[in-house]
Amino acid sequence: MKVLKFGGTSVGSVASISTLLDIMEHEVEAGERPVTVLSAMSGITNLLLQAAEEAALGKPTAQHLQELESRHFGVVKSLLEVQRQNPVLTKLKLYLNELEDLLQGIQSLRELTPQTRDLVVSYGERCSTYMVSKIAAQRFPEAVFVDASELIKTDSHFGQARVHIELTERLIRCFCHEHPGKLLFVTGFIASNEHGRITTLGRGGSDYTAAIWGAALHASEIQIWTDVNGMMTADPRMVKKAFSLPELSYTEAMELSYFGAKVIYPPTMIPAFLRRIPIVIKNTFDLGFAGTTIRHDCRPSELPIKGISSINDISVINLVGSGMVGKAGFSGRLFSLLAREQINVVLITQASSEHSITFAVQPQDAVLAQQLIAQEFELELQAKKLELPSIEPDLAVLAIVGENMKQTPGIAGKLFQALGRNGINVRAIAQGSSEYNISVIISRADLAKALNAVHDAFFVELTKTLHVFCLGTGNIGSELFRQLHAHRELLREQNGVQVNVIGISNTSRMVIDTNGIGLDDWHSTLNGGAEPADLPRFIQRMKALNLPNCVLVDNTASPEPVACYEEVLKASIAVVTCNKLGNSGSYQQYRLLHEAARQHGADFYYETNVGAGLPIIRTLKDLRTSGDRVLRIEAILSGTISFIFNHFGGEVAFHEVVREAQERGYTEPDPRDDLNGKDFMRKMLILARDAGFPLELDDVVIEPMLPTACLEAPSVEAFYKQLQAHQGYFEQLKQQAASSGKVLRYIGRLEDGQVRIALEMVDQQHPFYLLSGSDNIISFSTERYKERPLVVKGPGAGAEVTAAGVFADLVNVGTR
Ligand code: ADP
Ligand code: ASP
Ligand code: MG
Repeated sequence: MKVLKFGGTSVGSVASISTLLDIMEHEVEAGERPVTVLSAMSGITNLLLQAAEEAALGKPTAQHLQELESRHFGVVKSLLEVQRQNPVLTKLKLYLNELEDLLQGIQSLRELTPQTRDLVVSYGERCSTYMVSKIAAQRFPEAVFVDASELIKTDSHFGQARVHIELTERLIRCFCHEHPGKLLFVTGFIASNEHGRITTLGRGGSDYTAAIWGAALHASEIQIWTDVNGMMTADPRMVKKAFSLPELSYTEAMELSYFGAKVIYPPTMIPAFLRRIPIVIKNTFDLGFAGTTIRHDCRPSELPIKGISSINDISVINLVGSGMVGKAGFSGRLFSLLAREQINVVLITQASSEHSITFAVQPQDAVLAQQLIAQEFELELQAKKLELPSIEPDLAVLAIVGENMKQTPGIAGKLFQALGRNGINVRAIAQGSSEYNISVIISRADLAKALNAVHDAFFVELTKTLHVFCLGTGNIGSELFRQLHAHRELLREQNGVQVNVIGISNTSRMVIDTNGIGLDDWHSTLNGGAEPADLPRFIQRMKALNLPNCVLVDNTASPEPVACYEEVLKASIAVVTCNKLGNSGSYQQYRLLHEAARQHGADFYYETNVGAGLPIIRTLKDLRTSGDRVLRIEAILSGTISFIFNHFGGEVAFHEVVREAQERGYTEPDPRDDLNGKDFMRKMLILARDAGFPLELDDVVIEPMLPTACLEAPSVEAFYKQLQAHQGYFEQLKQQAASSGKVLRYIGRLEDGQVRIALEMVDQQHPFYLLSGSDNIISFSTERYKERPLVVKGPGAGAEVTAAGVFADLVNVGTR
C-alpha cells in the first residue's frame, strides 16, 4: 500500500487536479489502493491566516471569503458533472458559512487565539480534500472523504501540535479496518486535541500527515507530490544551477529541511525512518522525473555534500559574561527556560572559553527570549557576571549537509574559502556532532550570493559562473568579447568556467543586465538600450548587486578606473586589468591595491601589464613564492623598439626602419610615444616592484635612445627629418657594434634594486642577440637560474595577444 500526498500547487488548479487524478488512476490500474493526503489549494492557508489577522483588527473579510469561494467553486464547476455539483457546492458553502461565523466572532472579540487560528486554517484542507474526493468519485466510486482531525490526536500546542503516535495509529488502523476497499482522501495538516479541538501540525504539515498514515498502515512507500523535481542541491528559486538529488538518507533530508529546504517538512522523516518506509518526492508538473528517494540504505554518493539550505530570517542572541565560565548547568538553565516558553532555538554555539554563548531564534521570538533571560538571570546581571543579552537582527543561516562530510577532510575549508573570497562575513559557526551539517550565520543581505558561491564551490562538476563587469570597448575590449564568445563552450568544458558578462561600459555608454549580455551583439546592446556612462554609478551598482564570483575587467588605459580599484577589491571583487596605470603610479598606490586584494581575498591579476599575454608577471610571482630570489632581470619590453633594432642591420637606414614599423602599424601615430621609452619604464617599474623593490617612476633611469633634436621635433614629419639628419649617428652605432660581432639592443635592466634602460651592444652569447619580428624577451637570473637564466620570449603586443592574456587571467580567477 502506498500513501500519496499532494501539496498546494498540486491541488491548486483545474489542470493540476486533473493530473493528480491521472496519477491515481495509474496507481489503481496497477492494483494499488493508495491513501491520498491533500493540502489546501495553493495560497489558501496564507489567505485564511491573513483573513483571521485582519478580522482581529476589525477589518472586513468579505473579499477573502469571496476569493475562497470562487477558487473552489471554479474547480468544481470545471471538473464535476453538472448533476453532481449541487451537493458539493452546498457542502462547501456550509464550510464557508461556518468560517464566516468564526471570522465574525474574531472580529467582535478583536482577539485571535492560537486555538482559533488553527480552526480557521483547517478549512483550507477540509475544503480542498472534500472537493477533490468528490471529483475523484466520478472516476473511482469507492472514493471517500476523511477528515483526519478526528483520527490524528495531538497535545494542545496549537500551531505546531505534537502527535500522540500510538493512539493516532490505532485510530487510523481502526478506521481503515472499518472502510475496507475504499480509496481514502485524507485532509493533511490538521488534527485535534483530547477535547476534540482542531490543532495543526505546523506549516507544511501535510507531509507529516502522510508519513503518520504511512507508518500506521505500514505503507510500502510515501510519495510526496510537489512542484519541483524532488529535493535539489539548493532551493531552485535562489540557486539557478541547483540540480535534483536521486537519493538521500533520512538524516540528510531531515537536516536539509530543518535548515529551510521547504520541499519536505522535517518531522515527516521520523515515522518513515522508524518503519523504514521510503519517501519519494515527485513532481506533479513533470511526470517524467523519477523522483528523489529518501531511504535508509542509500547508495554511496560521490558528492562531498548533498545540499545547501538556508533560513533567510533569523535573529541571533549573544550572551557574554564570566558567570558562565565553568558553571555546570548554566546552558541547561538557559535552554530549558527557552524550551519552557516554546522558543525554538535554531542553532547554538559556545566559545570554548565558555565566556559567551550565541544562539539563533526566529525573529519574532527574539525580544521575548531577551526578556526571559533578563528575568531568569537577574542576580547574575546585577553582580555583573553577565551582560544584558544583545540581539542581532537581519541574519540568515546557511547550512551544508551530507553524510559524506564525515569521511572527507577539507569541507569546512572549502565552505569558508567560498564565503571569504566573496567577502561574506561569518557571524557564527556550528557543526553538529553528527558531522552531517555545518551551519554558518551570515548577514541576510549576503544570503543569495553566499548560496550561489558555496554551490559553485562544492558542485565542481558544474561550471563556476563568473559575473564580469567590463570597462573599455576599444581594440582589446572588443577582442576580449570576441574571444569569450568564440570559446565559451571550450571554457565550460575544459575549465568548468562560465563567463557571464553582466556590465559593459565605455566612456560614453554603459549597460548592466543581471541575465548576462550576449557577446555576439554586445555592440547593439550597448548602443541600443544603454544609458549614458557614469563610472561611479557603474561601480556602485556592481557592488550593490552583490553577485558571487564577481570580477571587474579594465581594458582601458585611463586613470579613472584605476581610482576605483581599491574600493572594488575591498568589496572582495576581483580585478583583472591590462591598464598599467594601477601598478605604475605611486608606490603607495601599488601597495594599497596589493594589500586590499590580500586582505579581502580578492584576486588582482594584471599579467598583460608587461609583455601582453606572455607569462611574465606569473613567472616572477611563481619564482618568488617558491622561495627563489631575483638577482637580475633583463628585458626588451617594447614590440616597436624590438622591431626597429631587429631590422636595423645591413644597408637599411634607421629612419627607414622606423617608417616601416609605422607602416606596419607597430607604432603609435607618433612613433616617439614608443621610442621615448616611457611605456617601457612603466613596465620595468612594475617588474621591479613585483620583484620586491619599492621604487618610484623617478627612480627608473633611462638613457634616451634618440638624440634630443629628434625627440623635440615639432611634428611627426619633422621628427623623420631629424632622424634622417642624424643618420650618421645611428650608422656609427651600428658599425661599432658590427665590428665587434655584436648587435644593438635597447634593454631594460633590474640589478641591485636599480632599474636602468639603455642602448647596449650584445654578442652572440647573449639570449637577446637572436630576436626577431617585434618579439618581447625577458630573462630572469635568480639564485636557482644563475648559470643559465630563465627566458620568456614571444609576441608582446597587439590587441589579440593582450586580450588573450586578459582572458587567461579571467580563467585563473574562475578556476582558483
Ligand atoms: P507543496 O505545496 O507541494 O508542499 P512547498 O512549497 O511546501 O510545496 O515546497 C516546494 C518548494 O520548496 C519548491 O517550490 C522550492 O521552491 C522549495 N525548496 C526549497 N529548498 C528546496 C530544495 N533544496 N529542493 C527543492 N525545493 C526546495
Ligand atoms: N496547507 C498547509 C500549509 O500551507 C500545510 C501544507 O501545505 O503542508 O502550511
Ligand atoms: Mg510543503
